[in-house]
Amino acid sequence: MNRRSFIQNSALTFGALSIAQQNIFSALFSKPGAAAPWMFHMMTDKIGVFTERGGTIGFLIDKKGLVVVDSQFPDTAQHMISELQKKSDAQVKYLINTHHHGDHSGGNIAFKGLAKHVLAHENSKKNQKRVAINNNNLDKQLLPTKTYSEEWQKHVGDESIALHYWGPAHTDGDSLIHFENTNIVHMGDLMFNRRHPYVDRSAGANIKNWIKVLHKATRRFDSSTTYIFGHSAEGYNIVGSADDLKKFADYLDAVLKFAEAEIKAGKTKEAFLKNTSIPNQGEWKGDGITRPLTAAWDELMEKQNS
Ligand SMILES: [Zn+2]
Ligand SMILES: [Zn+2]
Repeated sequence: MNRRSFIQNSALTFGALSIAQQNIFSALFSKPGAAAPWMFHMMTDKIGVFTERGGTIGFLIDKKGLVVVDSQFPDTAQHMISELQKKSDAQVKYLINTHHHGDHSGGNIAFKGLAKHVLAHENSKKNQKRVAINNNNLDKQLLPTKTYSEEWQKHVGDESIALHYWGPAHTDGDSLIHFENTNIVHMGDLMFNRRHPYVDRSAGANIKNWIKVLHKATRRFDSSTTYIFGHSAEGYNIVGSADDLKKFADYLDAVLKFAEAEIKAGKTKEAFLKNTSIPNQGEWKGDGITRPLTAAWDELMEKQNS
């Protein structure tokens, strides 16, 4: 499919979502851990998304092979695999992890013996291994068999798949996965759509560079690129456009500026963490605001002290 017909097709696909489907979209992402049914949704004739619990899974179905991006948890990965196998008996050529967090790589083990290669950024593999050793569950992991450091690109059937690493952001090992011909990018947890993000400083996260990564994505890709998001707030979609990336970059920038102003004003960290919203960023809601507040404070204090 050429790009023009894809755009028309995807506009129709997203525009034609029924109210019930939209409700499924919003219901699934707002209640992590709830016993919700899964959703297996084709965005185009070959690329789709799966959601049940944890980070959004993306996939490519080509008769020459399958590609799966992220794996949620062992039980939900099994649901995803059975849906995929109803559509195609081709081999899973690549299971790709956007980063190491358990809601994105915990289901890798369900692909044992199924996936030819498991691919992630080199830091993602290190993190996955380190956390598993700490949690004493290395035997429950399927670690990447292939890693890269800056860029990676391969063809699977008609699709060209490119991975980009642009430095520390949500962790120190986040990949952007670009299905180049259909022009869809899986952002993993580089995108929290209208939901306060988890910022993993224990794995080298950096908010300042995260903002740069989001802006770089909007320059590197184009205005017709469709993005898949790791997580979204209730009522917001798990796919979107460059405009959503810019809004999230603005939110992260506002979090840093807020922390900077409060540090300058002589506030204590304890008082700062009591805030329940970010100034002028009312769209970002839900639980977990202390995570970005803590991360922004610590990042700025670290800079001051270095
Ligand atoms: Zn996640
Ligand atoms: Zn994550």
